[in-house]
Amino acid sequence: MIRSPGIEPNMHAVRSVDQKIQVVELPEPNGSGVRVHVKSAGICGSDLTMLDRGFPLSHTLGHEFAGVLDDGRAVAIQPTSGCGDCECCVRGDVQLCPESMASTLGVFHDGGMADQVFVDARSLVDLPSGVSVNDACLVEPLAVAIHGISTIGLEAAEKVAVVGAGSVGLLAGAATRSHGCPTAIIARHPPQQYAAEALGLDLKPEGAFDLVIDAAGSESALQEAVRLCRPGGRLLLLAWDWENISLPGFAMASKEIHVLATVTYGHHHGTRDVDAAATLLGSEPEIANQLITHRFPLVDAAVAFATARNRKAGAIKVVLEP
Ligand SMILES: [Zn+2]
Ligand SMILES: [Zn+2]
Repeated sequence: MIRSPGIEPNMHAVRSVDQKIQVVELPEPNGSGVRVHVKSAGICGSDLTMLDRGFPLSHTLGHEFAGVLDDGRAVAIQPTSGCGDCECCVRGDVQLCPESMASTLGVFHDGGMADQVFVDARSLVDLPSGVSVNDACLVEPLAVAIHGISTIGLEAAEKVAVVGAGSVGLLAGAATRSHGCPTAIIARHPPQQYAAEALGLDLKPEGAFDLVIDAAGSESALQEAVRLCRPGGRLLLLAWDWENISLPGFAMASKEIHVLATVTYGHHHGTRDVDAAATLLGSEPEIANQLITHRFPLVDAAVAFATARNRKAGAIKVVLEP
């Protein structure tokens, strides 16, 4: 435990110190915005990637989180708020705001792996009845999947395949399945396969698919995704590597595949993707049951991060509970 000098510290927060996870003591935050008493904060693959790549992380981690306000209202948080003024923000396309990335809580501002955090009031996502605040850290990654699927478009009964069964792949599969689309998924590890089956996903993609979702982001996953796509079909890139990868151009062109890459979340038909995600979590409780495999108290963050790296041992979504 590391103690900051100065003001009396009275809460815990998870930070990266020399690329290692540390629980530090800090004074309770204050400032503009709304105070959130965090109840759940998910560890994301991108948290692990940022740590491993030495990305400068000077703030409290955690962009997937939910909690309660001072008045007891339970909320999830959209960790990007954009500038609020530009054409993209006014349209609700916060993800396209030039300042969207820089507004991200848990990366460029203090995030939710702490007892408390202040957020912009525009970030609040009300939870429907039936969604526990302890599960609502899934709103953010589910919104990523919903945003991509809504942007590329999906008709009921279209055939969908998902390549990669980490949390984004499983959430995307759950979302297309709930849309009435038969969905197959390529899941490498047995725990991912059990979760996929429980979510109603087929483990053996057969035939050609109207929509293929790449939720792995590797070159081999992309090749597999193109192979699974029907002629004239659609390919959604929902995950990507930090490095450039090469495209199987000839195979894509010969099928005239429509390719779309999406980032985070915005809105569709006047509904924010985060609100659509909260609604779906409420109507499909099995999503949280299957996705959240581990829960740790905040002070055990180092163990939680080590667990999140171990997919073979069954980690899908590892959640910290301050
Ligand atoms: Zn994430
Ligand atoms: Zn903006």
